[in-house]
Amino acid sequence: MAGLYKNYIDGKWAEGKSGKTFENRNPANRNDLIGLFPASVLEDVDRAVGAAKKAFGRWRLIPAPKRGEILYQAGELLRKRKEEISRVMTREMGKILKETRGDVQEGIDTAYYAAGEGRRLFGETTPSELPDKFAMSVRAPMGVCGLITPWNFPLAIPTWKLFPALLCGNTVVLKPAEDTPHTAVKLFEILEEAGVPPGVANLVHGTGGETGAALVRHRDVRLISFTGSTAVGREIAAECGRSLKRVSLEMGGKNAQIVMEDADLNLALEGAVWGAFGTTGQRCTATSRLILHREIKKEFTEMIVDRAEKIKLGDGLDESVEMGPLINGEAREKVHRYVHIGKEEGARLLTGGAIYEEGKWIDGYFYRPTVFDKVTPAMRIAREEIFGPVLAVIEVEGFEEAIEVLNGTPYGLSSSIYTRDVARAFRAVRDIEAGITYINGPTIGAEAHLPFGGVKETGNGHREAGTTVYDIFSEWKSVYVDYSGKLQKAQIDNAE
Ligand code: NAD
Repeated sequence: MAGLYKNYIDGKWAEGKSGKTFENRNPANRNDLIGLFPASVLEDVDRAVGAAKKAFGRWRLIPAPKRGEILYQAGELLRKRKEEISRVMTREMGKILKETRGDVQEGIDTAYYAAGEGRRLFGETTPSELPDKFAMSVRAPMGVCGLITPWNFPLAIPTWKLFPALLCGNTVVLKPAEDTPHTAVKLFEILEEAGVPPGVANLVHGTGGETGAALVRHRDVRLISFTGSTAVGREIAAECGRSLKRVSLEMGGKNAQIVMEDADLNLALEGAVWGAFGTTGQRCTATSRLILHREIKKEFTEMIVDRAEKIKLGDGLDESVEMGPLINGEAREKVHRYVHIGKEEGARLLTGGAIYEEGKWIDGYFYRPTVFDKVTPAMRIAREEIFGPVLAVIEVEGFEEAIEVLNGTPYGLSSSIYTRDVARAFRAVRDIEAGITYINGPTIGAEAHLPFGGVKETGNGHREAGTTVYDIFSEWKSVYVDYSGKLQKAQIDNAE
């Protein structure tokens, strides 16, 4: 029996006001109905924001180390329930258990990191230009934050936003992706058990166009933190621009791995397989372009095609499976459409390029690992985000051309180069236009304590994770304490 799930508002599980629901189904088997979730409307969003606004008054005054202890508890509970949540996530999102365990682990790491930050949240002290005057900067919370998240990291991405936001003293309303609402419910069960007070963290399910848009437009929301597609991010940024809300955007990517002629090819192969086909290519940091030096191009292409053809597809809950389905039918159609575009553009399909419907997988959204050869940088399959297991091989003559090709897309999230030449490695770090560069590692594998985000159309200058996420979720306040007992005028009394 599929469950009927609720929103979480002001410390209580609450039905949606409209009474309407949407279905959540297993992408490995669409006959498996996981549950019904409220299709929330403006009134639900309004209630959640109202609860968050009311709770802000008390939460902001709780000392940050104490807030950190609550988040530490959340991390402990996530650790205890890691296996249960990983299974819930694989069932609704499709990626294999090994990866959903990694997704939960990222949430645990983020909780522990936030807990430690509760005893730092450093500001600065600096000398005043005037005598008997003290100067410092402190962080202040912002108020109600609206968090909007995608389905590909159903736990990690909500926690990347939620834990730092709460640690800074904000209250939040989360609108998770409609494809993965069950994991969000699990996260909120944990927040409740960890002791997050009523109203501090609220969960509202629903579609982007209705529920998400209502959150973005709400006048009591001070900040929107969004992860998702560049098209939607652009709309949200425009709306936030009109109301002068702070907006932090993490969006699409078209990441490349360069393999130079001096690289350890076996190592580069492991990286490329994991980068391109891990999470069925549905990571914002997935490798979708393979830029190969002319000298190793033929050999390396054969190696990757051979590996791609051996990948075992199936239900991610089966430990022997290496690649799960795409998230839904629409996503699979999009991938298939791009395969047609690639062929029409003149690229050569080496393997895959087809829906996988064998045996019991007929009811899932599976797609064969796909490799295209003879791709040129101007082709759409080399420039646009496909978000599936499709790899475009581009041949280059040398290092400079490799970097130029890598930089030649509108995006700039992750990047990778395999080379044994240390000088080339450092030149790549200097010249690649991306928020993340890996040397002798794949384009995926970010850690919770380093800044995460991208340049160009991937982001708008903010960085999640690391200490930088605390800049997103706090305001700087400069404080001057004058103990001279007289009026001192900066730039005037002390001027020559
Ligand atoms: P999406 O943009 O379709 O949706 C993301 C979220 O925004 C969902 O919760 C959705 O309901 C909501 N939304 C949709 N329209 C909205 C609107 N008009 N107003 C407010 N909210 C709205 O993206 P997706 O398909 O869920 O995720 C895939 C995309 O996310 C890819 O482009 C991927 O690269 C990107 N992504 C980026 C990062 C990163 O950190 N850079 C991480 C993961 C995913």
